[in-house]
Order: sequence, then structure tokens, then C-alpha cells
Amino acid sequence: MKNSLTIKNGLVYDPLNGINGEKKDIYIKEGLISENPDINAKVIDVSGMIIFPGGVDIHSHIAGPKVNKGRAFRPEDHFIDPVLRTKTSRSGVGYSVPSTWVTGYRYAKLGYTTVVEPAMPLLEARHTHEEFLAIPIIDKAAFPLFGNNWYVMEFIKQRDWKKLAGYIAWILKVTKGYAVKIVNPGGVENWAWGKNVDSLDDHVFHFEVSPREILEGLGKVNEILKLPHTIHVHGNNLGHPGNYEYSLETFKIAEKLTAKNGRDSVLHFTHCQFNAYGGSNWSNFCSEAPEIAKYINSHDHITMDMGQVVFSKAATTTMTADGPWEFALHHIGGMSSWGSKPGVKWINGQVESESGSGIVPYFFDPKVGVNAIQWAIGLELALLIKNPWQIFMTTDHPNGGPFIYYPKIIRWLMDKKSRNDMLENQVSKKATSQTTLANLDRELTLSEICIMTRAGTSKSLGMTDRGHFGIGAIGDVSIYKLDPKHLNGHIIEKAFSNSVYTVKDGQIVVHNGNIVTSPIGATLVSEGQIKDDLYQITIEEIKKHWRDHYSINFNNYEIGEYYTPKCKIINGV
Ligand SMILES: [Zn+2]
Repeated sequence: MKNSLTIKNGLVYDPLNGINGEKKDIYIKEGLISENPDINAKVIDVSGMIIFPGGVDIHSHIAGPKVNKGRAFRPEDHFIDPVLRTKTSRSGVGYSVPSTWVTGYRYAKLGYTTVVEPAMPLLEARHTHEEFLAIPIIDKAAFPLFGNNWYVMEFIKQRDWKKLAGYIAWILKVTKGYAVKIVNPGGVENWAWGKNVDSLDDHVFHFEVSPREILEGLGKVNEILKLPHTIHVHGNNLGHPGNYEYSLETFKIAEKLTAKNGRDSVLHFTHCQFNAYGGSNWSNFCSEAPEIAKYINSHDHITMDMGQVVFSKAATTTMTADGPWEFALHHIGGMSSWGSKPGVKWINGQVESESGSGIVPYFFDPKVGVNAIQWAIGLELALLIKNPWQIFMTTDHPNGGPFIYYPKIIRWLMDKKSRNDMLENQVSKKATSQTTLANLDRELTLSEICIMTRAGTSKSLGMTDRGHFGIGAIGDVSIYKLDPKHLNGHIIEKAFSNSVYTVKDGQIVVHNGNIVTSPIGATLVSEGQIKDDLYQITIEEIKKHWRDHYSINFNNYEIGEYYTPKCKIINGV
């Protein structure tokens, strides 16, 4: 049986089911975790290895128009990282914006089997799904962008929650989307007029709604629709000194929302590192991660991911729907001593009636104070937040750095000695003077890493079919050569750099760091729970104004089934 597998003698980590490094066999029958072995199953012995559920990345820019523009825009990024064809895999290129096939291969080699593309312009959904089709092995989901959408702002202005619910449900259907993404609410629309928003109560031109009202409205409707994931928020003022106050304000807005669909959380705050800054300018820039952590440690309605910065061999490619931020970064890029310079090439884009975007190459230099502080803040968040079900590992790929550096981050989180080595020998002393990282003794356990990279992310996403080994879960497994009794920084990084086996739906796809086979992954979509008549009323209303807003015909907006040949509907619990 191609999709049946028996995995013997490994140490199993399954935090959702309370299993912490127990010697246990895992049975997969026709692609799903089963109580008993399939007698026709292939059997592998993984003595001396640890077994995790397949990795689930909650936020990584891997597909869509801005990713593809990033590829075209940075030939120098590809020259340094050519990938040759093998008997079982295709050629391609890295580095910070890898080609589609290489993206799938590299995630699979790290033991990841599900990745979320967190910023899909609605009008460009077709392109996003075309790229998904060319990313092998991993399952994918895409978050449509709603935070600066004209229909959304109009319905919020009218306080018409029913129509807003109808609109969100319709967009999820026609774009094959998964969750509600909000990027710099209101600020990206104002950027079309050369401005931004400077507080949560500032106003969006022509719509007279505030970022606060956009967050409240979308948060409320997300729960009315009982979507599997919370609203997924990229905060206002990202990247600017002193922005932690806006982050705390945003968390407080969400205190008024009531979670549905089996979640505790109502808001996911993404790449928090970029929104945990103190100081009032770049010279007194400092960490406010302890303030953020203090709040999270006393509230359970927020989950977040790190947005960790890594120091890599070359500039990364920053890319976001936050157009005004990329304009700012284009001007301040000169802080790095080599690589980025002020006024480096940049792209800004506008998607009619919906959203914007920007791209700027950026080099994080360990010797530059601000970059060293940013590096420390991501780690502070992960170490200061007590509950690993509330903080997840990301680099906001490729913004803080390419995802291929995840093993290094795991090393820093699990080994204080490795962090100290960075602080003492490799990064600017500002990371010691402007953050608390040097004082943190916590070393995360394997179980906590398992939560931050698969169990917790799956739970926050409402993907109840993965991130654990309960009966009926999908047979996605990652197996690493690691003895939990003999750990040090080097061993940890090495083990997580290449899985011994990655299993997708019961099929071995990676063995000893080599791609064995490249099946097509599924596209995960979600549907709002909404009455049919309401849905129809909303569509009629949208249609009425369509020609005023769009350059394409209404009937061409929906993408066809052709784009998602392997589609799986996820509706949470
Ligand atoms: Zn992002």
C-alpha cells in the first residue's frame, strides 16, 4: 500500500494528546493515522530518532504576485543559490525567494508538510493558486487580504455585519481562501493617496472608518461566520520605533470579541517582533518584548508568531502588502554597513479597490545595533511568553530571513549557550544593552518546539486534521535523528536541518535529506457558516457597484475548480 506505513521504535512527541517523548509505534493506514497497523504497510525502524507530526508553518510568503515579482526583481538572489536537477527532483533556484519546486522540496526536507501563504490579493487569487499548483508535496492555504478593501470598509461604515459576513464568505469561496488577513488596516488604502494612518483612531480617506473599526468589524464577523482561524493581523506602524503601544491597543480591541468554533483565541498577531519596538527614534531604539509578553501571559485570546530575524549570507527580500512600510524601508535601508544602501531598488504596487504591496531587498547585519536588537526581540518573545500554544516560530519568510534557517532558530531557543555565543561574539552589544535576552535562562524543550512549529499552529489555524497523531489525523510525520538525552546547540541544529524521513499522507517523500517522490499537496480552504438567502442578497448588492470599482467583469472574478484539483474544506471543530 502506497499510503500505509508502520513506524517502529521512535520517540513520539504529540503534545495535543499529552505524549512527550514516549517510545511508541505510529500506524498509518491509507493516508490516515490508525489504531492498528495495515498488514500490507511498509515498515520502517526509527530507533534513535524522534517523531513529530508534520510541520505546519502559519505564516510564510511562498506564492502569489508579490512573491513572483520578488523573484523577477532579484536575479542576484538566484545566482548565489542554484539547485541542480536530480533523478527525483527538478532544478530551480533559491535563495530568499526560491522557485516553486524548490520551495516545496526545502520545506519537505525540514519536515514541514503544510504552509500558509498569508497575503493573497483577491484579484490575484488565480495567480496565487497557479503557483500553489507548482509547489509540490506540501499542503497550502492562502489568506485573502481584507483590511483595506473598499466593500469591507463600506459595510463597516454602515455597520452592516450581515452584508459584511456575506461578502467575506463569498470572497473565501471565489478566491479559494482560508482566513481573514488584515494588513496595516486603513493605512494601505491611505497610501494610495501618499499617506498612512498614524493611530488606531485615525481615519481612512473617503470611507471615514478607523483602523480600530476595521479590526472590530472584521473580528466580529470572523466569529459570526465561525471560521476555523481567527482574524490574522499585521499591525499598524510595523517596523517603527515605539510601535509596541499600538500592538497592545490592538490586543485590547480583541478583548471584546467572543471566540467561536472551539478556539480560545480571537486574534492572531503576526510577526510580532516587527511590532514590539520601544524608543522614539533609531538611536534610542529598544525592545519592549517584556511588555508584550506580560500582556500575553495574562490573556488567552491572542496567539502570535515570532517573525524572527536571522543573519544570513546575503540580503533577504522583504515583501508585504504594507506598501507604506516598504516605502519607509527603501529610505532607511542604508543602516546596514554592507549589502543594503539607502535608495536601493524597490517596488510598490496597488491592487484596485483591495490592497497594495511593496518589495525591498534588505540585509540584516549582526554588527548593526538595530538589527541585533531585532534579532534579540524575536527570541525574547518566544522565551518570555510562557505558553507555547500562544507563540509560534516564523521568520515571516522571507522578511526576517529565508525559512531554511528554522533549525538555527530552534537551536537558539533550546540552547542558552548558543545564544550567549551570539551575544558575546557575533552581534552588536546593543542586543545586550537594549533587550533582556542576556538574562533569559529558559531553554525550550522538544515538546515546546513541537507545539510552536506544528501542534500549536494547527490548533490556532483550526486545522484539526493535523499537528497531532490522534486516530484519523492525516499521516504527516517528520522524523529526526536526535537523542533527547544528549543535546547541544550543534546537534540540535544539525538534526532539524534535514529530516531522516518526511512522510506526507502516509507516503515517504524525503529520506536522509533526499526527495523520494513529489506528490501534489492539497489546497486547504474554509467556508463561513452563513444562510443561503443572506449570501444571495450580499452578492446582488456587490454586483450593483461592481462596475464602479473594478476593471474586470464580475463573472471573471471567481476562480474555477481547475485551480484546486486537490481541494480540502476545513471547517474547524
Ligand atoms: Zn508576512
